[in-house]
Amino acid sequence: MTRSSSTFVTGLRCFICNGTIPNGNVHTCPKCGVQGILDVQYDYDAVGKCLTPHALDNRQHNHWRYSELLPISPEATIPPLHIGWTPTYDVPRLAANAGIDRLFLKDDGRNPTSSFKDRASSIGVLKAQEFGFTTIACASTGNAASSLAGLSAAVGLRSVIFVPQRAPEPKITQLLIFGATVVRVQGTYEQAFDLCSEACKRFGWYDRNSGINPFLVEGKKTAGLEIAEQFGATVPEWVVVSVGDGCTIGGIGKGLREMKKLGFINRAPKLLGVQAEGAHPILESFASGQDLIPVSTNTIADSIAVGTPRNWRRAIREIRESEGAMIAVSDQEILDAMRSTARMGGVFGEPAGVAGVAGLKKAIAQGLIGRDSSAVVVITGNGLKDIQSAKQATGQPLDIEPSFEMLERRLIESKIV
Ligand SMILES: *Cc1c(COP(=O)(O)O)cnc(C)c1O
Repeated sequence: MTRSSSTFVTGLRCFICNGTIPNGNVHTCPKCGVQGILDVQYDYDAVGKCLTPHALDNRQHNHWRYSELLPISPEATIPPLHIGWTPTYDVPRLAANAGIDRLFLKDDGRNPTSSFKDRASSIGVLKAQEFGFTTIACASTGNAASSLAGLSAAVGLRSVIFVPQRAPEPKITQLLIFGATVVRVQGTYEQAFDLCSEACKRFGWYDRNSGINPFLVEGKKTAGLEIAEQFGATVPEWVVVSVGDGCTIGGIGKGLREMKKLGFINRAPKLLGVQAEGAHPILESFASGQDLIPVSTNTIADSIAVGTPRNWRRAIREIRESEGAMIAVSDQEILDAMRSTARMGGVFGEPAGVAGVAGLKKAIAQGLIGRDSSAVVVITGNGLKDIQSAKQATGQPLDIEPSFEMLERRLIESKIV
C-alpha cells in the first residue's frame, strides 16, 4: 500500500513568526504579509519509511523520484519532460585552475528549457492545475519565464510572462516560441514583479513568482536531494550556488538537510552563496546581520541581478545553518569563469550559471575555502541563453580565404602550429 504523497505535508511555516498554517492555496503568511515567506513542512518519520535507498532503486531518474518530499497531489499528471537528475562531472583541470583538490560541476543547463528553473516551474504548473487555475503568470529576468512557458506548454496551461527591459533576446524568443503572452515592461525586474502580482490578483491567475510562492522552492530543493543521492558518502565539503532571489540556495540547503535527516548522507555540505558585485544585497545582510536593504543592480549576470530579493531570509538561514559563506564576484571574474568552465570543464554556462565557479576560485584564493577541500558547483543555466555575454568572454574565429597557404600562415601567426 503506497501512501499518497500530499499527506506527507503537515503545514506551512512562516520564516518570520514561526507560526504554522494549513497546507493550501496560499502564498505568504496571513499574519506577517508579503515578507512572511512560508516553508513547507513534512512528516519526516513517515517520509523516511517510504523514501529509502531501496525504494529509489526502482524509480525513474528525474526529480519526481522524491515525490514524498514534494508538495504535489498523488492525482497530479506529471509533465512528460525530463526534469532534474542532471549529471555531475568530475573536472580535474578546472579544479587545478581554481586551486582545489576535487571539483565537480552539476550541469543544470541540461534541463528541458536549459536552466535550473525547470525544477521550480514543474511544481508551479502542477499546483496551478491542482488549485483549478487555467492561466499562470510570473515576472522573471528570463529563465523562470522561459521555463514557465515551456512547462505550461507541456501540460496545456496558458502562461503570461512579465519581463524587464534588460532580459536578453534569446530568452524572450524562447518564451515566445512556447506560446506565452509576453509583456515587456519598460522598467526593472522589481517593477515587472509588482505588476505581475497585481495582475494575478485582478485577473485570477496563478502566481508562479518563486520569491514568494512556497511550493516552487520545493522543486529547487531537488538539486540538493540529488547531490546527496548522487554522491552519498563522498558528498563534497562545499556546494556552490549563485544567488539572486535566494530561493535556489535556500532550496538546495533544505534538500541537503533533509537527506541528512533521512540518512542518505552523514553530514550536510557547507553552502557557498555567490552574488555579483553589482547586485549583492543578500551578502550585505549576511555580513551585517541586519535586515535586507534593497539595491540597484548592474551586472552582466542578468539571472542574479536582483536588487530586492524576496527570499533572503531563507537563503541566509540555510547558509548559516550549513556553516557556509558568501562572496561577491566581478563581471570580469564571471567572464573569466565562463571561459575556464567551458575550456577546462567542457560545460558552457551563462554568466549567472558560472558565477559559482568564479566565487569558488575567489573563496579559495582568499583562504575562505581550503585547497585540500572538495566542492560541487551547480551550473544553473546554459551559455547559449546569453550569447552577447559569451561573445565578451571570447575571441574571434580565424577568417581565411579557402587556400592552404592562407590557412598555414594564419595558424603560424596564432601559434597553433
Ligand atoms: C534564477 C537563477 C539563479 C538564482 O536563483 P535565485 O533563486 O534567484 O537565487 C542562478 N542562476 C540562474 C541561471 C538562474 O536563472
